[in-house]
Amino acid sequence: MPIPTSLPAIKSAISEGKTNCTSLVEHYLERIEATRHLNIYIEVFTDEARQRAKELDEKFAQNPASVGKLFGAVISLKDVICYAGHEVTAGSKILKGFKSLFSATAVERLLAEDAIIIGRVNCDEFAMGSTNETSCYGPTRNAADPTKVPGGSSGASAVSVQAGTCLASIGSDTGGSVRQPAAFCGVVGFKPTYGRISRHGLLAYASSFDQIGILANNMADVAALLEVMAGPDEFDATCSERPVESFSQTQTSKPAKIAYFDSAINHPGMDAGVKKLTFDFIEKLRDEGHTVEPVGFDYLDFIIPAYYVLTTAEASSNLSRYDGIRFGQRTEGAKDIHEVYKKSRTEGFGTEVKRRIMLGTFVLSSGYYDAYYAKAQRVRRLILERTEEILQKFNFILMPASPTPAWNIGEMADDPVAMYLADIFTVQANMVGMPAIALPIGQHPCGLPVGVQFMAGKFQEAELLGFAAGLKS
Ligand code: GLN
Repeated sequence: MPIPTSLPAIKSAISEGKTNCTSLVEHYLERIEATRHLNIYIEVFTDEARQRAKELDEKFAQNPASVGKLFGAVISLKDVICYAGHEVTAGSKILKGFKSLFSATAVERLLAEDAIIIGRVNCDEFAMGSTNETSCYGPTRNAADPTKVPGGSSGASAVSVQAGTCLASIGSDTGGSVRQPAAFCGVVGFKPTYGRISRHGLLAYASSFDQIGILANNMADVAALLEVMAGPDEFDATCSERPVESFSQTQTSKPAKIAYFDSAINHPGMDAGVKKLTFDFIEKLRDEGHTVEPVGFDYLDFIIPAYYVLTTAEASSNLSRYDGIRFGQRTEGAKDIHEVYKKSRTEGFGTEVKRRIMLGTFVLSSGYYDAYYAKAQRVRRLILERTEEILQKFNFILMPASPTPAWNIGEMADDPVAMYLADIFTVQANMVGMPAIALPIGQHPCGLPVGVQFMAGKFQEAELLGFAAGLKS
């Protein structure tokens, strides 16, 4: 029997006795072997996943009503999320050999609902990048065309779903890391409101932007996973106290009012094929009865500079903990403590991470703080105010997920600024802490998938997911 690609279908197949957790895990393990050339997994939890599948099948056999909400869901984890007793390295040499002492709250909640974690997948080093090429484990390849990148930083999470090696993947999104790879790989990528899912156990990049996100085949699975992972957590003070709604019950085909930024879709950096697919999609939305209108947004070109000032500042502070003493790799033969720090960090971090630590340290340094960091904070506030103003009149903001389809492997290697600029459409949601989803909308003339993105007001996940689930286009 072909393996269903949604959790509700898997659950029905299990209830009808057509499959069970053990056969699901075996199927995914075979897919993992068959797709080794894509370099998706850093580590496969083979024995453990088999053992857990067996236990869960027994639990179900004894009492089908006793299994959790995620029974039948086999999931991959981005290498920035702690899973007790398992290595977590953020795709970095500096953390090689480091084992998590505890599980992220999100992981504990997945396990408590009987999900199976099949392995740890590649990502850009410390989630800094848009191509998955900054990882110390080498690039992951796009399954639609292995000469292309899968996007990043949760690139391998997207490919793990795209290539059918698991049902869904848990990634992280600081500036688009779930949504842009989802668009590049033709899957669904969702970043919740800042504070919706606890960040406890997520290795920090830029703490006021970071959110755990979901990569899946469809809206039903996004809703099911969100419902389980969301909600207050005593270990993360920024996690909201709001009760978690039932996201899986909210599908709607109610006409929505949708805004799009003229300046975004007509941006000079927009690829003609992506632009055409986006306009075609807007037409389909109108045909379905939704109102879609252009609005002005004067801050588009300020988003990227402000984002890279703020996130590098936060990263320089967050990454100062990797000193060769407390976590992971320590240099050999240093003469004194300063040399331990210096050599461990020099040897352990890759070029992109070093670039960001230096940039972040610079923008926070005395004499430059007001000119860069404080100014970027003010820009962040202006962007929030304008976004909120638009969302008072509209339900959602539509945006391309990326100005282009996936790049060639190596294409961005020597031009970090070009790579930063390509994040133009995804970082806004993180700047303002709002939820956003990337959905596949078709195939570019070059054969690669293209995605579109919808953003909603804070904590409007139920509306956003319900709307996306109800789309016919
Ligand atoms: N590409 C963006 C960056 O490099 C986003 C990364 C992310 O969301 N983790 O910062």
